Amino acid sequence: MTTFEGLGIDERLVRATTDLGFETPTAIQEQAIPILLSGTRDFIGLAQTGTGKTAAFGLPLLHVIQPQRHPQALVVCPTRELCLQIVKELDLFKKYMPGVGVVAVYGGASIGLQIRDLKKGPQIVVATPGRLIDLIERKAIDLEQIEYVVLDEADEMLNMGFQDDIEFILKNTPKRESTWLFSATMPPEIRKVSRKYMKEPAEVTVGKVNTANKSIDHQFYVTSAHNRYETLKRIIDFNPGIYGIIFTRTKIDAQEISERLTREGYDIDALHGDLTQGQRDKVMGQFRDKSLQLLIATDVAARGIDVQGITHVINYELPDDVEVYTHRSGRTGRAGNQGICISIVHSKELYKLKQIERINNSKFHKLDIPSGKDVCRKQFFHFMDKLLSADISHGDYETYVPMLAEKFAEVSKEDVLKRVAAMEFDRFLKYYEHAEDLNFREKNRREFNDSPDQGRKRDAGRGDNRKDYRKGGGYSRLFVNLGTKDGFYKASFLQFILDMSDLKKEVLGKIDMKDMNSWIEIEKGAAQQMIRSLDGKNYKGRRIRMNDADTGGGRKPRKGEA
Ligand code: AMP
Repeated sequence: MTTFEGLGIDERLVRATTDLGFETPTAIQEQAIPILLSGTRDFIGLAQTGTGKTAAFGLPLLHVIQPQRHPQALVVCPTRELCLQIVKELDLFKKYMPGVGVVAVYGGASIGLQIRDLKKGPQIVVATPGRLIDLIERKAIDLEQIEYVVLDEADEMLNMGFQDDIEFILKNTPKRESTWLFSATMPPEIRKVSRKYMKEPAEVTVGKVNTANKSIDHQFYVTSAHNRYETLKRIIDFNPGIYGIIFTRTKIDAQEISERLTREGYDIDALHGDLTQGQRDKVMGQFRDKSLQLLIATDVAARGIDVQGITHVINYELPDDVEVYTHRSGRTGRAGNQGICISIVHSKELYKLKQIERINNSKFHKLDIPSGKDVCRKQFFHFMDKLLSADISHGDYETYVPMLAEKFAEVSKEDVLKRVAAMEFDRFLKYYEHAEDLNFREKNRREFNDSPDQGRKRDAGRGDNRKDYRKGGGYSRLFVNLGTKDGFYKASFLQFILDMSDLKKEVLGKIDMKDMNSWIEIEKGAAQQMIRSLDGKNYKGRRIRMNDADTGGGRKPRKGEA
């Protein structure tokens, strides 16, 4: 039988493991420790939490470091909780090694205190990526002397958008003798990182390893671009117990959708780059303790956020990068829970789903956008379930029962239920009474089966299937003094002008966006409605000017602009 002593670790560490009641090494420890003790071999350990992986790298790390007081080893992990847990275990292991210092550095805590701790010269620093980069930039930590880098829960770190930070750390540890990477899954991005920064790593697998996170159900709904917002609302309404993150491409979208949903009574706040650290912490605090049900964020703003128990991730728009999709969806379905990642797509984006399926080795499920009736039924039963599970054990309800019984003597149980439902649902039912079908119904099945190439061609030729203005297809060209400098993307701009004008996307031709201005091709019959709806209105305190570019006073596009 293998023992810790037999694995060759320092006698002081053996004593500590005995004190902790560890009798025999676990599978990952038995296989990893002999390799890691050399200190010179790169290593990949595929193991989940609970397998004893912290001791698998922690014991060898304490074994190989020298008494000199300067950072020699760096353990990088995704979250503050894990960071503290690792330090706690290392502290227990180093019980008989009084000269060894271990310091934790992570976001959301005083950086001043952490800088003071680092000044004491710990041999091991356990860090989350964001805070570590911050400390490097402040020159509070010197990576020059780092010999060992451990990446713990590497897949989670990549899921949370820390890939660039990890690469930065690996690039800036010139004396790195070996890199030890631990991960529960082995997605292609981790392979890429290991190929780039590790030399013939020894690889050990404990238990089953997935390439993609199978605990996430990837779903999508197909709608028209101008129905995105309504579709989002319907998805939220159809999932009354949702605790989710919605991703948008731009901060303007995040902010506007958040404001609009808040006005409509939803429990949501936005996380975007314009918030101060204090505001950001406040929003995150509310979301974390579930006093906020929904968070809407851009990828940049959501970088590194770590919240347990997310039920849904919603892509308001699909990201361009498959990697970004993986980061987003990885926020749900964690720690053994099931999660759902929903994407709202329009028919021209279906080929992108194919790409994601291929690269991520996952499968998308197309669902019909629920009808108003579906939503009402779902809400109704959710409410009734809540009613049934209400805790009545503490209130002084018994006192009132005789009076209530008298008051309701003539009302049947069914009527009481109906009345309760009416009070709760009146507004809701009215809203959904004539709700339109938001599903994009034409041709979508055929398009989802298109080859990626067909799809790409169609996407590249945006507007190919519409009449071309220059060929005299009955289109007008409108000038508007809004452009990318106003924070618009083509998709968000399109949505903005359609929302404002209440027109359908089909009336539009090509849209040409510049920094300060844009030109919009639009069917002649719809041009005036668009102008009436936008011209003279305010956008972020600026007056919108829109007119017919060919007959009105708008600046004509310069040669090469259109
Ligand atoms: P980890 O996978 O590192 O999160 O470890 C899971 C738990 O197993 C921790 O509470 C460790 O203290 C414990 N543990 C680690 N190695 C052993 C061992 N060889 N024998 C018994 N318990 C262990």
